[in-house]
Amino acid sequence: MFVRVNKELCIGLGNCVVIAPTVFRMNTSNIAVVTDPTSVANDKLWEAAESCTAEAIILEDDSGNMVFP
Ligand code: SF4
Repeated sequence: MFVRVNKELCIGLGNCVVIAPTVFRMNTSNIAVVTDPTSVANDKLWEAAESCTAEAIILEDDSGNMVFP
C-alpha cells in the first residue's frame, strides 16, 4: 500500500495527523506530508484517508493502482 497527499486539496485540518501521527505531519505551510507510511497497518492508512474530508489522501495498491478515493 502506498499513501500520498495531494497538496492542492489538503486544507490542513490535521485529521490524518491525529489518527496516524507516525505517518503524517504538518509542514510549515500547514499541509500534511507523509513521513513513515510503513509504521502502521493498512487499516490505519484507510482510517486516515477516510477521515480526510478534502479527499486529499490518496491510497494506491502495491501495483500503483489508486484504490482511494
Ligand atoms: S486530513 Fe486531509 S486535509 Fe486534513 S491535514 Fe490531512 S491530508 Fe490535509
